[in-house]
Amino acid sequence: MADPTFESHKDTVGVDVGIRYLAVTSASTGEPTFHEASRVRHQANHYARLRKRLQQKGTRNATRRLRRIAQRERRLKQQANHVVSKHIVTTYPHALIGLEQLTDIRDRTKRRRRRRKKHGKGTEPVSQQARKANRVYSQWSFAELHALIAYKAALCGSMAIKVDANYTSKACPKCGWTSEKNRPNKGLLFHCQNCHYELHADLVGARNITMRTLLLRQDWGKTGYLSVSPDASDKEAKAARLARYAELRWSPDASPSPKGGRGN
Ligand SMILES: [Zn+2]
Repeated sequence: MADPTFESHKDTVGVDVGIRYLAVTSASTGEPTFHEASRVRHQANHYARLRKRLQQKGTRNATRRLRRIAQRERRLKQQANHVVSKHIVTTYPHALIGLEQLTDIRDRTKRRRRRRKKHGKGTEPVSQQARKANRVYSQWSFAELHALIAYKAALCGSMAIKVDANYTSKACPKCGWTSEKNRPNKGLLFHCQNCHYELHADLVGARNITMRTLLLRQDWGKTGYLSVSPDASDKEAKAARLARYAELRWSPDASPSPKGGRGN
């Protein structure tokens, strides 16, 4: 395969992976796509319950069934990752596909085991719903999904690169305002506390990833050098990158423009 070139990767796509949607994509032009995870999540939870019951039994027969269930579970997740990654790369051929650096994802989706009691002192376990989400979070293989996207992208004349994940879900794509409060009650709606821009919360991450990827593509065009994954060990370089990201604004044609520039 020929070396990837700037000219052969015209489109830019950001991919955000998560639990409500296995993946949300946002291209620099065109409609975003949402890859629903509810069906596989439901099945995964069913397997998890079954596994717990069998573990408690602890008989030899139960152990045998456990092994089979583990295999089925792995296949289920692999299959879902295959379907999603294939759909993404065929939707966006000859594209530069931006993914988040995974170590940061783990920080962002920090699991909560206990929460503060509403009235009075002490803590109580998190809700059943939160526990379910935790279970899938901890067991879903986002690394595998990323690897599949990267592998299949190369077969479609595309290329996957990694960008820093910091603040991708908290920064307003329109004005840059970054705050936890932009996501009231961690709900489905992103609401910027500064410019009141509203957007599906899962799309915010994808858009911010897209803009960071666009920035790297611009650098590629200018310097001939493409950064394929951020160097997290160099603190100064990382701070400089984050400062540049903070200047990014989403506009209709999605070319990143500096602060004060044209917006939508
Ligand atoms: Zn805003």
